[in-house]
Amino acid sequence: MTAKTLESLLDEGVQGRSVLVRSDLNVPLADGAVTDDGRIRASLPVLERLAAAGAKVLVAAHLGRPKGEPVPEFSLAPVADRMGELSSVTVRRAEDLTGPSAREAADALGSGEVLLLENVRFDPRETSKDEGERQTLAGELAALTGPEGAFVNDAFGAVHRAHASVVDIAAELPAYQGDLVASELKVLERLTTSPERPYTVILGGSKVSDKLAVIENLLPKADTLLIGGGMVFTFLKAQGFGIGKSLVENDKLDTVSRFMDLAAEHDCRLVLPTDIVMASAFAPDAEREVLSVDALETGSHGADALGLDIGPKSAELFAQSIAASKTVFWNGPMGVFEMEAFSHGTRTVADALSKAEAFSVVGGGDSAAAVRTLGFDESGFGHISTGGGASLEYLEGKTLPGIQALGL
Ligand code: ADP
Ligand code: MG
Repeated sequence: MTAKTLESLLDEGVQGRSVLVRSDLNVPLADGAVTDDGRIRASLPVLERLAAAGAKVLVAAHLGRPKGEPVPEFSLAPVADRMGELSSVTVRRAEDLTGPSAREAADALGSGEVLLLENVRFDPRETSKDEGERQTLAGELAALTGPEGAFVNDAFGAVHRAHASVVDIAAELPAYQGDLVASELKVLERLTTSPERPYTVILGGSKVSDKLAVIENLLPKADTLLIGGGMVFTFLKAQGFGIGKSLVENDKLDTVSRFMDLAAEHDCRLVLPTDIVMASAFAPDAEREVLSVDALETGSHGADALGLDIGPKSAELFAQSIAASKTVFWNGPMGVFEMEAFSHGTRTVADALSKAEAFSVVGGGDSAAAVRTLGFDESGFGHISTGGGASLEYLEGKTLPGIQALGL
């Protein structure tokens, strides 16, 4: 089977045909409103291209983790509203996924219109381990599109999941890859095969255990690996430094020590911060003190302090390294950027990336959100991945079931 692109579907012609698109519309919500519409904006082009070509566009997507039953707070209703505001295409909404509301709305849908089905994860069969259950749901989804239906997977953020609307549906309908999936794959390929050098990878975020496989896979490929965020402290503790009450994964001390040896073997410069912003508590108004990594427990709160951001010297050092690079991949905030007091490191790295001449890629849900909530212009970055977990799994060297299902 060869990979079929959206282009080839448009060439076949979609006028009057129903096309089911799996989109990634998993956006953050607060008080029933969308707080970051990045994924909606990223998803619209494919839907609009199909609508403009005369297709009846059905959209399946998930939101949050409702655990297989309808939960009002995870309804896609606010997403449908936002889509309608952002697009000139008519966006309709079904109150269920494959039930009476969806069937009626699908039948009534006009050419050039979009119908957003309700959260796929309200149905337990979506994520079922039982292939038969998933296939039944996939069959019901395919039935909504009628005899000439087609399936487009544009949800890069979900391709690492063996779910009904991602994998099983591709066996029910002629399947095509959306532009978003195609462009994400192209970017990730560029990061893993012959990146332009110097190649710098910046990793942060909260848990080192989430990133072990990425570190392992990218260490041999990168020239420089900069470490920030909460995972720093596992590295510092492994080197024998006191870290106070900072985040640490004690069962990973040996693993990170091994990474330091592995880096040396592969001629990769593994750089840890030299200074840290230590706080009296995990709170936006906590007392702060910048301390050198070999003296983190010597501040006014002693061993009770915790590190919530990389220090200004380290941030500057990281920025310089980014400026000197031709390729940069960044995943994971440098500190607790959600609190203004601890956002400096993340802001400095994002700023350096946005100004760098390098091909720059931001991966990871929180990192992409940080770029936007800190007010950076997305066009300053080479690519902001919409698929956090999926891009990380790709960079870990894993096979992605949703991509495999498309015959890629
Ligand atoms: P991404 O989604 O981009 O992959 P992660 O999910 O790994 O990123 O990590 C994001 C989280 O890490 C953020 O919510 C941030 O507050 C947290 N974080 C960063 N630095 C620290 C730190 N020093 N201590 C605790 N949490 C941290
Ligand atoms: Mg995250």
